[in-house]
Amino acid sequence: MEHDRLVRTMEAILGPEGVISEREQLRSYECDGLMNYRVIPELVVLPETAEHVQQIVKLCYDEGIPFVARGSGTGLSGGALPVESGVLIVLSRMRKILEVDIPNQRVVVEPGVLNMWVTNEVAEHGYYYAPDPASQLISSIGGNLAENSGGVHCLKYGFTTNHVMGAEIVLPDGTMVNVGGGKAPDAPGYELLGAFVGSEGTLGIATKITLRIVRKPESVRTLLAAFKDTEEAGGAVSGIIGAGIVPAAIEMMDSLCIEAVETAVHPGFPQAGAILIVELDGPKAEVESQFEQTVRICEENNASEIRIAEDDTERALFWKGRKASFAAMGRISNDYYVQDSVVPRTELGKVLKRISEIGEEHGMRVANVFHAGDGNLHPLVLYDNNVPGEAERAEDVAGEIVLTCLEHGGSLTGEHGIGVDKKKYMPKMFATEDLDTFQLLRCAFDPHQICNPGKVLPTPRLCGERPGPFRMHPVQKAGLAENF
Ligand SMILES: Cc1cc2nc3c(=O)[nH]c(=O)nc-3n(C[C@H](O)[C@H](O)[C@H](O)COP(=O)(O)OP(=O)(O)OC[C@H]3O[C@@H](n4cnc5c(N)ncnc54)[C@H](O)[C@@H]3O)c2cc1C
Repeated sequence: MEHDRLVRTMEAILGPEGVISEREQLRSYECDGLMNYRVIPELVVLPETAEHVQQIVKLCYDEGIPFVARGSGTGLSGGALPVESGVLIVLSRMRKILEVDIPNQRVVVEPGVLNMWVTNEVAEHGYYYAPDPASQLISSIGGNLAENSGGVHCLKYGFTTNHVMGAEIVLPDGTMVNVGGGKAPDAPGYELLGAFVGSEGTLGIATKITLRIVRKPESVRTLLAAFKDTEEAGGAVSGIIGAGIVPAAIEMMDSLCIEAVETAVHPGFPQAGAILIVELDGPKAEVESQFEQTVRICEENNASEIRIAEDDTERALFWKGRKASFAAMGRISNDYYVQDSVVPRTELGKVLKRISEIGEEHGMRVANVFHAGDGNLHPLVLYDNNVPGEAERAEDVAGEIVLTCLEHGGSLTGEHGIGVDKKKYMPKMFATEDLDTFQLLRCAFDPHQICNPGKVLPTPRLCGERPGPFRMHPVQKAGLAENF
């Protein structure tokens, strides 16, 4: 379909205010939180209802136009990167909380609802929504679902997939289906909801999502412990987990990260080689006894200082420091590249040492902040885009870090997804047969490959013998050929 007719048809569905076609305005949507990749879409559309989404997707299907869903655009793997000859479907006007069902512990939302709004909505009833990405003030539930997002409290409470109970989905041919159990605890048949959560927008668009909420714990205790280095802090982590304690969160920050956070949000963290923030929650009696044990384990691992949050304000200050750490990097470096890999907890010490060596070998600074309890690392490679070649060097460093994590039995991503950023590493972790099986699943949902094409799986793969009407832009084709 030629451009002007596409604009007119979309305007007929959404009204002129729901369609953006001016090139300068389209630029606002050229990337997500991973700014190294930029593509200006042909068109941006902003549906207000599930029916709008259905009509837009059906039109794309009939015309063979690729489309990409976008929530708040905070993704860090280029998942919402537009397709140049395609339509970007931005869900930020679908922000209604449709139902709060306290007796069944469910909240039903539209996909553009921001993560934090769910907790705000149910707090007065003594409930909250557990998955808490550091971006929770701005990231959308639709984006969280698509990335299977994690957060500092996912060690104990599980990732997004454990809290999404059902979803209404517009499939890539415009059909609307419901997957999962919704309010019922379980649904018979294949676990299609499980396949959809974490599929990074490649299997369809969620237009309504049923979430599980959990009761606020009776008691919460939080401490901050300072150590000489990450190795000693790592020893305390192993000690706590080895003692059979499952904290709500254990987060580690190294000295470079502490420096950045102190400059940006002044949480008053001690100067140290590493700090741990450990939070325990649950029934008061259990928390009190395990908290004492945790303090003892930190002391046994040579903590130079232990601070205990005396009230909610102090606790919030600890978390403010932690959650600001990505953004705070701007205070010590012009640019940074966030890596997101996972290693078995027992490998943390060795991998952290190797990360620091990789940084030194390339003459680059690498700050570390991470979910220590589940081995989910977030090395931040600092660089300056104004210095020719530094962005490429940062990418090399990040690539070596990924491969190091794989060598130590780890995984490519803990929570930020594969997107465009890491698809080239997929064959390092999966055999061709595995990738082909992923593709079979993808083709079952999207045989014409128009739904977020070019993401997650390396190399353009066809669905069976059918080439499909997807029009890949020549520049993208060239990019794919270069990468693989
Ligand atoms: C400062 C900062 C801190 C962060 N901290 C964390 C963290 O602690 N943990 C964590 O896991 N992530 C974190 N992230 C990454 C990011 O916030 C998450 O991946 C988040 O879930 C993305 O949500 P979004 O609404 O911005 O989605 P987008 O970036 O807009 O999209 C992400 C993916 O979801 C797809 N998508 C969006 N909406 C839908 C829908 N309705 N149906 C189907 N697919 C859809 C898109 O196509 C894309 O592939 C952080 C990011 C930043 C910038």
